[in-house]
Amino acid sequence: MEVIKLAIQKEGRLTDETLDFLRKSGLEFGNYKQKLFSICHNFPLEILYVRDDDIPDYVASGTVDLGILGQNLLYEERPKVKKLLNLRFGFCSLTVAVPKESNYKNLEDLKGKTIATTYPKSTLKFFKKIGIPIKIVRISGSVEIAPTLGISESIADLTSTGSTLALNELRPIAKIYDSEAVLIANKKSITGNKKTLIENLVIRFKGVLSAKNYKYVIMETTDKAIPRLRKITPELKSPIIFPLEKAGRILIQTLLKEDSLWKIIEKLKETGVFKIIVLPVEKIVT
Ligand code: AMP
Repeated sequence: MEVIKLAIQKEGRLTDETLDFLRKSGLEFGNYKQKLFSICHNFPLEILYVRDDDIPDYVASGTVDLGILGQNLLYEERPKVKKLLNLRFGFCSLTVAVPKESNYKNLEDLKGKTIATTYPKSTLKFFKKIGIPIKIVRISGSVEIAPTLGISESIADLTSTGSTLALNELRPIAKIYDSEAVLIANKKSITGNKKTLIENLVIRFKGVLSAKNYKYVIMETTDKAIPRLRKITPELKSPIIFPLEKAGRILIQTLLKEDSLWKIIEKLKETGVFKIIVLPVEKIVT
């Protein structure tokens, strides 16, 4: 029987969220710690735990069929793989930063200066595009201390909250790109014998991703309020409606997008909705 192989980061920032995402997708597998790989009990899938910088090569060469990694590594390595999904976690940006007290105000000020980074290709490409010549020094870790050590005048590093920059007395001056965790596939795997298995796994992943954006909302209101509610909530196309014992009272159940939830709830309260219950959604498969 065919088994698909998925490489994920063994130890690092993406590991916990990746494992959580796989488990939310209904995949059952044992404790991964101290292991090189896990076998799923309920899906023909083997999960390999590797260094994240090795994932682009493993996927491109067909050592594994799929990989979960930061998009930043795709921008840097440009491996010949197919991106299948954005996974909505591991958000960060490749940011150009300078010492807080320095006179560098903008990118122009870095003309001819040295920038320390783990992402030399992406950084060089960015500066080339805007026509500012710079020098690069490649560092594989703790990039943020390079200016203090006198290795460079500036850095280009991944940031999410900006707290590491602040701790190291650095000031962001530009963003090269945004990144998040993505699912990538070997190009042959998605057209060969494993195509259907990969498609089925992607359906599971999409189910979790769609659910992430939605809440299940139950509200108590009157049947007369329905036309007004439809105006407020465009999602309310075919709601589930239950009549209540009290004449004219109903329960409406629907899905609402999380990002607009509070704005809609405020309007719903004004429209004569008596009670609103908001529940998490685990999966939406369409
Ligand atoms: P690491 O565990 O530090 O090797 O980081 C692994 C991946 O986590 C990176 O390649 C990024 O895709 C992602 N990431 C998310 N937020 C950050 C951040 N603030 N700094 C570094 N990497 C981050």
